[in-house]
Amino acid sequence: MKIYISGLYCGTNPQPGVGIARSLRGAYPNATLVGVEYSNRCSGVHWQDLDDVWLQRPWEELNLADHADQIRKVLDAGGLWISSIDLEIMWLGSAFPEGHPNLLVPSLPALQKVSKPAISAHKDLPVKIPTFVTTELSDWDLHAFCREHNWRVWLKGPYYEAVRVRSWTEFVTMRNVLSTAWSTDRLYLQTHVSGYEESITLSAYQGELLHCVAMRKRDLTEMSKTWAGDISEVPEEFVSALRGVIKTLNWSGGAELEMVRDSQNQLWLLEVNPRFPAWIHGATIAGHNMSALLVEAVTGEPAQKSPAISEEFTRVVLEVPVRPELPLSPLPEPLAGRVGHSLKHPSGLLQFANRLHDLNVFNHEDDAAANIENGNNGNGALPKTDTANVPTSFVDDLTHFDLGQIETPSFLFLEKTATGLFNKAQALSAELSTEDIKVTNAYSIKTNPDERLIRLAHESGFLAEAISLLEVKKALDAGFNSDQIILNGPGKWWHKEALPEGSLYSVFCDSMEDLTRVVEEYNSGNLKTRVLGIRLRTPNISSRFGIPIDTPEAFQMLVGAVRNLPRDCRFGIHFHMASSNVGVGQWWHLFESMLKWCSSIEALGGRTIEVLDIGGGWFPEDLAKNSGDRFRKAINLIPEFLPHVRQILSEPGKAIAQPSMALAMQILEIRNSYGETREVVVDGSIAELPMYFFYPHRILSRDRQSGAWKSLNRGKTHLLGRLCMEHDIVATNVELPQDAEVGDVLVFCDAGAYDRSMSYVFGRG
Ligand SMILES: *Cc1c(COP(=O)(O)O)cnc(C)c1O
Repeated sequence: MKIYISGLYCGTNPQPGVGIARSLRGAYPNATLVGVEYSNRCSGVHWQDLDDVWLQRPWEELNLADHADQIRKVLDAGGLWISSIDLEIMWLGSAFPEGHPNLLVPSLPALQKVSKPAISAHKDLPVKIPTFVTTELSDWDLHAFCREHNWRVWLKGPYYEAVRVRSWTEFVTMRNVLSTAWSTDRLYLQTHVSGYEESITLSAYQGELLHCVAMRKRDLTEMSKTWAGDISEVPEEFVSALRGVIKTLNWSGGAELEMVRDSQNQLWLLEVNPRFPAWIHGATIAGHNMSALLVEAVTGEPAQKSPAISEEFTRVVLEVPVRPELPLSPLPEPLAGRVGHSLKHPSGLLQFANRLHDLNVFNHEDDAAANIENGNNGNGALPKTDTANVPTSFVDDLTHFDLGQIETPSFLFLEKTATGLFNKAQALSAELSTEDIKVTNAYSIKTNPDERLIRLAHESGFLAEAISLLEVKKALDAGFNSDQIILNGPGKWWHKEALPEGSLYSVFCDSMEDLTRVVEEYNSGNLKTRVLGIRLRTPNISSRFGIPIDTPEAFQMLVGAVRNLPRDCRFGIHFHMASSNVGVGQWWHLFESMLKWCSSIEALGGRTIEVLDIGGGWFPEDLAKNSGDRFRKAINLIPEFLPHVRQILSEPGKAIAQPSMALAMQILEIRNSYGETREVVVDGSIAELPMYFFYPHRILSRDRQSGAWKSLNRGKTHLLGRLCMEHDIVATNVELPQDAEVGDVLVFCDAGAYDRSMSYVFGRG
C-alpha cells in the first residue's frame, strides 16, 4: 500500500499533510507514505512518519501536463493520492475530469458548488450563510455595506484568505493586496458573525459519507487558527442532511465545514474546505481516524483501530531532525526590508493561482445564480455594477457652472441639491412627529459653516446647533433668533463676549464641571436658556465627550447634580455617536441602551426628561434610506422608557451638507502608462479632500461628445494630487474616458461636509 500525501506546510497556518501521515501511520504501520511538496522549505517534509518525499519544482515552474502524467502513473499502479492543498485540488479536478478511483479529491463541479462565499450546497444543511457582496460593486455601495454591517466585515479572496477590515483605508489597502495577488477584482465582503467557532470534518468516497465529527475551537492562534479543540459526535439531524449533500456532490476525499455558532445557537457556514483540516490528527486522538476510514473504503484493507485517548487535543511546537538528503536552504541575500504577501507560503501558491486562472480552471458561471439563491440573505443579490449612482440634482446643479471659467480646484455649491436635502429632512421630521412628541432638526454649523447653508437651514425651519459662541454669532447674523440655537460641545465658553443677550433654546453640558458652571450662570441670570441639559458619554463605545455614567460613583454624582438643577427650565439629555463610524445597526442598539440609562437618571434624579437630543453623525444615504421606518419605531419606543419626552432634536451635519458641494479640479498631466496602471496628475489634492481616507467620493467627468456627466467606473488609473506628498493620491483604480485631455475638469461629489470645512491651504506659496 502506497499513499501520497501533499500539503506539508507546518507554519502557524499549517496544512494537514503531517496530521494525515501521523493518523495513517497508526492505522497502517506497514504502508509506504510518500510526502509530496513543491518546496523544500515546507518543514513537514522532514516528518518521521513519511517513508519518502516526492519533491517537485515550485508551482510557477512546474510542467503541469507532465506532473499530471506522473500522477496518473502513480494512481494506475495502485497508489492513493490525498491532497491537502486547495489549489492542487482544483487543478487535479481539471487535470482528471473523469476522476480516478485512487484520486481522493472532489470533482471540479463539486468544488464549484462549495466555492465561497455562496456555497450553494448549503441549502439542505441546518446552517445560514452570512450576508455578502462581491467587490465588483461600486466603492460607494461597498462603503454602504460596511456601514450597514457596523464595520464588522471580512474581505475574502476568491479561493482562500480572509482578512478582517475595520475601516475604509484598511479595506482599500487589503483589496489592493488581494486583487493583485490573485489577479482578480472578484473578491467578497462578508459580514462578521460573533460566536464560537466550530467545524465538522468528514470523510467520503464516491458520494458516500463514511464518517464525520465535530470540533470546537478551544484556543486560537493570532490568525484564528485552531490551537486546541474538543471533538464530539455530529447531531443526527446534521449527519443525515450532510449525507444527502455528499451524495448529490458525489464527493470523494476529506472536507471541513467551518462554522460559527452565534448566541442564539444558529450555525453560520463560513467556508467549505475541500480537504481534511490541519487539526485532523486531533480527531484521531479522539478515536475518529478520518483518513484511515477513507483508505479503508478505497482499498478494503481493514485499518488498525485508533483508540480514543482523549476528546480534547492541543498543539505543541516540535523540533525534528532535518533529512540529510533535504538540507536547509542557504540564508537569503540580505535584501533590504523585503516584505512579502501575507500568505508567506514558500511554494509559490500565488503564482500557481495565476497559472490556474490562465488555464480557466476557476469557472465562475455559477456565481450569478448562487448570488440570487442567496437573495434571502439580503445583499447577496445586489446587481453587480461598478458605477456609482449619482442623483440627477447633482447634474442639474452642475449645468449652472461655466467650468471653463472657474479657477480650479474649486468647491461648487449645489444649490438645488442642498435645498432638496433641507426640505426632505424637514418633511421627514414633520412626518415623524406625533401628537405627543415633536421632532425638530438642528443644523450642525461646524460641519459646514457656509452662510448659504445656514440661511437655508433657517428658511427650512431648522434650529441651529453651535459648538462655540462664534458659531452662535454667525447663526444670529444669518437670521436665527437666539432661542432657535442649541449650544453644545466642550468649548462653549470660548469668546464669552459673544454670548447673546436673549435666551438660547438649549445648552448641553459636556462635563460635571461644565454643569456646575452652567447652573451657576443660569441661577445668577447671566445665562438664559429654555432647556438645560447634559451630554452623556456613551458606555461601551469609547468617546471623549459627555459625562461618564459607567461607574456607580460617576452615576451617583450625576444623579446628585440632576437633583439640584434649576426648576424653571426644562431638562434634556443629549448623546451623540456617529453612525457613519460605528455602523447603523450598532447605532440603533446604542439608542435603545441610552433610553434605559436615561430612564434610570429620570427615576433617581427626580427630574422628568422632556427633551432628547440624538446628535448627528449620519451618512446622507443612511438617514435617507430606510431610516423613516427605523425612526418611527424608535419614536414609538420612547414613551415606554421616558414618558415625559415632548421634543426630539436631531442634529444632522454631514447628512445634509456632504452632498451639497462638489470639488472641481483639472487634469494637469496624463502620464504614459507603465504596465497596467496609468497615472494622472490633477490640481486638486487631499488638502481639499481631507475625508478621502474615510469614505469614497463619486467622481464625474463630462463626455466630450454628448456633454453628459458620467460617474467614473473602476479601472487602472490613479489620480495623483498636486501636492508633493506621498499620500496625496485623490483616487485609485478609476477609469478615465479614453479621450481625456489635459485641462479636462473632473468633479468630485460628496465634498460638502468636512472636506469643505476642514480643507486647508497648502502648497500655494
Ligand atoms: C458635529 C456635531 C454634529 C453633526 O455631526 P455630523 O457628523 O456632521 O452629522 C451634531 N451635533 C454635535 C453636538 C456635533 O458636535
